[in-house]
Amino acid sequence: MKKYIDFHTHQVPADQDVVAVVDGRDTWGIHPWKADEEFVVPDLSGKIAIGECGLDGLRGPSMEVQEKVFLQQVALSEETEKPLIIHCVKAFDQLLSLRKELKPKQSWMFHSFRGKPRQLLSLLDAGFFVGFGFTHNEESLRACPIERMLLETDADELHSIGEIYNNVAHKRGLCMTSLCESMLENYRTFYKNEPLLT
Ligand SMILES: [Zn+2]
Repeated sequence: MKKYIDFHTHQVPADQDVVAVVDGRDTWGIHPWKADEEFVVPDLSGKIAIGECGLDGLRGPSMEVQEKVFLQQVALSEETEKPLIIHCVKAFDQLLSLRKELKPKQSWMFHSFRGKPRQLLSLLDAGFFVGFGFTHNEESLRACPIERMLLETDADELHSIGEIYNNVAHKRGLCMTSLCESMLENYRTFYKNEPLLT
């Protein structure tokens, strides 16, 4: 039986006990760094989420261009009923107000969250799921309700998803079985009727 769910990664896992949502293989989206490149939306069958997409105040084309492309992907997510995986750097308030304004039906994952509890609370209030990797703010990790937490390796080449689960289980005082069960439940909530990837 598969043990770990990696909610966002750029690498196909070598381990048999990992279910991974691999960026580009299982999802489709335009990264904010590439928001000025031309794109055509491909056939999305077989893709379970839209992303990673988002806003980056430090890198990529202008915020205006990034926001336009992000909004196209929000619309695509709503149309196709696939959730969004979001990259957000130095654009926190902008992302929050977009979600409040747009009131999307689909779930949004704020991936690789490293912010403080105050930011976490704003995300939770706005209905986000929050992605945590090996590097995170410890207080935020402890403050996040388990049912809104999604664990991920992203581009981490040093820590496996198993190590991240171990780390989180330890910090939250949970046994591995219950953490794995929670993540499976979160997958079902986030991906609604989508069967678990094989
Ligand atoms: Zn990523």
